[in-house]
Amino acid sequence: MSRPIRVLPPEVTRLIAAGEVISRPLDVVRELVDNALDAKATRIEVELEGGGLSVVRVRDNGVGIPEADVPLAPRRHATSKLADVNAIDTLGFRGEALWSMAWAGELTLVTRPAAQLGAIELKARGDDVEVTRVKAAAGTAVTVRDLFAALPARLRTQVPPATEVREVTTLLGRYALHHPELHWKLVADGEVKLQHAPSDARGAVASVFGALTANRVLSVDAELVRGVLSRPELTRPRRDRMLLAVNGRPVAFPQVLEKAVIAGYGELLPSGQAPLCVLDLRLRPSDVNPNVHPAKAEVALANVPDLAAQLTEAVRAALMASPLVRSAPALH
Ligand code: ADP
Ligand code: MG
Repeated sequence: MSRPIRVLPPEVTRLIAAGEVISRPLDVVRELVDNALDAKATRIEVELEGGGLSVVRVRDNGVGIPEADVPLAPRRHATSKLADVNAIDTLGFRGEALWSMAWAGELTLVTRPAAQLGAIELKARGDDVEVTRVKAAAGTAVTVRDLFAALPARLRTQVPPATEVREVTTLLGRYALHHPELHWKLVADGEVKLQHAPSDARGAVASVFGALTANRVLSVDAELVRGVLSRPELTRPRRDRMLLAVNGRPVAFPQVLEKAVIAGYGELLPSGQAPLCVLDLRLRPSDVNPNVHPAKAEVALANVPDLAAQLTEAVRAALMASPLVRSAPALH
C-alpha cells in the first residue's frame, strides 16, 4: 500500500472497467470491506441503517490515505493498487468503488495514516468534492448516505431492508470465516448482528454457525489450501455451507472444485450429502483472474483439473489425519 493513488490510463481501464459496481447496499459493504482488507486493517466494523439505503458505514484501523491522495480517491479509475493486470494481488483494482458510491449516494470519508497528525474528511456527491481537516483515529471510516435517493428507478428494485440486512450478515460472516484473525462487527439499526474477536478458523465457525458446529470441524493446513472441514457426521443435503475464498477473496465455489472436496471424503460421506467447509486456496496471483465478474464474485483459475486433484488429496489427508474420523465406523 505504499504506492500513491494515480488515475489509470485508458488502455488499462478498458481492460478492467466493470460498469455498474454499486447496485445495492450489499455491494457498498463488499467494496468497503475489500478496501479495509487491502489497507491491512485488523478491525473492521460495519453499520447499516434502513437496510443500508439510509446509511452504510465501514470503519477500519488500516493504513489510511495520505492527505495529498485524498482528493483523488473518489475519482474514477483512481487507484493505489493495480500494478499488473495479469497478477492482481489486492481485492480492489478498478478504482471505481468510491467513485460509484459518490454518484449513487452521498459519500463521506474520514481518513488518517497513523504517522500523520490530523485526519482529512472528504465529502463527495458526484463531481462535487469538499475536503476539510478534522480530528480522527488512525484508519479510515467511509459513510454512504441516502443511496439511490436521486435514482427512483433503482430504489424501486431494492429488496426489503430486512432481507438486505440478512444478506449483508451472511456476507460479513463469510469474510469473518475467511479472515478469522481479525475483529469483525456488524450493527444494523443499533442491533449487533455479528461479532467476532480474533481467533482461528474454528473460532470463526463458532461466531458464525455456533459452537455446536465448531465442535464438529477439523482444520486443513496444506500449502495449497487452509481452513476447516466438517467431520463426516456433520453433513448437509445442500452445498450451501461449502465456502471458498481464493487468496482471501470470498468467491463462488466452482462446481468442479466442490466435487473435488466431496471426492476427498470418499465413502465417509453418504451420497447426495455435502460437508460444511471453509477453505482458502493460496494461489499465485498470476494463476487467478478476478477480472471476470463485476462484483468479483467469480474468478477464473489456471489448471483447474490439477487443482481439483490436489484439493481432493488435501481433504483426504486432513480427514485421515484426524483420529476422530479414522476411528469412526463406516457410514453405509
Ligand atoms: P480500488 O480499491 O479498486 O483501488 P476504490 O475506489 O475502492 O478503488 O478506492 C480508491 C483508492 O482509495 C484505493 O486504491 C486506496 O488507495 C484508497 N482507499 C479506499 N479505501 C481505503 C481504506 N479503507 N483505507 C486506505 N485506503 C483506501
Ligand atoms: Mg476498492
